[in-house]
Amino acid sequence: MPNLRLMPVCLFSRFASASLVAALFFAPAAALAEWYQHSFNVMGTRASVELWQQRVDTAKKLAREVELEMRRLEAAMSPYIESSELSLINREAFSRPVDISPEMHALLERSIEFGDLSAGAFDISFASAGHLYNYREGVKPSASALETVLPAVNYKSIKLELKKKGGTTVRFTKPGMKIDLGGIAKGYAVDQGIRLLEKHGVQAAMISAGGDSRMLGDRGVHPETGERLSWVIGVRHPRDETLSALRLPLSNAAISTSGDYERFFDEAGHRYHHIIVPDTGKSARGVVSVSIIGPKSIDCDALSTTVFVLGVEKGLALIDTVPEYDAIIIDANGSLHYSAGLAAGK
Ligand code: ADP
Ligand code: MG
Repeated sequence: MPNLRLMPVCLFSRFASASLVAALFFAPAAALAEWYQHSFNVMGTRASVELWQQRVDTAKKLAREVELEMRRLEAAMSPYIESSELSLINREAFSRPVDISPEMHALLERSIEFGDLSAGAFDISFASAGHLYNYREGVKPSASALETVLPAVNYKSIKLELKKKGGTTVRFTKPGMKIDLGGIAKGYAVDQGIRLLEKHGVQAAMISAGGDSRMLGDRGVHPETGERLSWVIGVRHPRDETLSALRLPLSNAAISTSGDYERFFDEAGHRYHHIIVPDTGKSARGVVSVSIIGPKSIDCDALSTTVFVLGVEKGLALIDTVPEYDAIIIDANGSLHYSAGLAAGK
């Protein structure tokens, strides 16, 4: 874990963002000469791969392989692509057990584990209610529409079963149930990309997909001082996209940020956004940004959504029970809160 000495401050005060800039390391231009960078749109967001390679043609090939891997995952996991494995599950798992790939099985199993860990704050069946919102069009469900679908929001009604002859199936035991892996799939895709690069011997790289990033190794050695350079990850200011709320020096780590500014609309002084409290089917209130730092992107992704739903007190209490993971929360007043690991400067 990086040694972050962070002071609780109010982000929305005028001088806050300057005082928040944690140690900044800029690698000089020469050291960056052989970084290869490739960006593309996937999973409804902008993704980028940056890697250090001696040969540009190898770097290009590997970055393209990462892109293809992320596209493969999007084709399987998207709820918006009719031919995806996830869409098939959503269409048929109430009427019959649906055969699923080992990869889908692993992701569903992990999602259910996060449901158990968070006492249901993380629940991929939020989609039974969540899919009634259309943030782009400013559409939200009526109170009675929500009431009708809420019984279908309960990850415990997702049944994974082993078949006698091998393989697994998934079955929903509630009618109208829908699942969505939007709170975990991008993190998984980032981990898959990093795994692919590691397998090809890459020692330094960063992959990002929207708010999920993971760094392999560091930024190399400072040519003059010989010091090792960290990656610097900015967490954006939740109410001004031109500003960073924080800059964090990180190496060999993942970070995910969930914010109420990603997909939302405002109406009558309320923000309706894409992180849903499973018990109510409504957007989570109380916090505006949650960043989780830890070894794996899949866990950072799911935990950032989870802590967003739980809020400051319960969210920090949960993270303090998860070894190797830390949280930075910005609440609705713009105040920052840190998990015990960061507050102690571990
Ligand atoms: P993004 O990077 O897409 O903004 P986040 O990590 O912030 O994603 O998670 C938000 C996404 O998680 C939503 O778009 C939705 O797909 C999914 N989601 C929303 N509420 C929940 C919930 N309570 N449990 C699990 N997943 C959720
Ligand atoms: Mg998430």
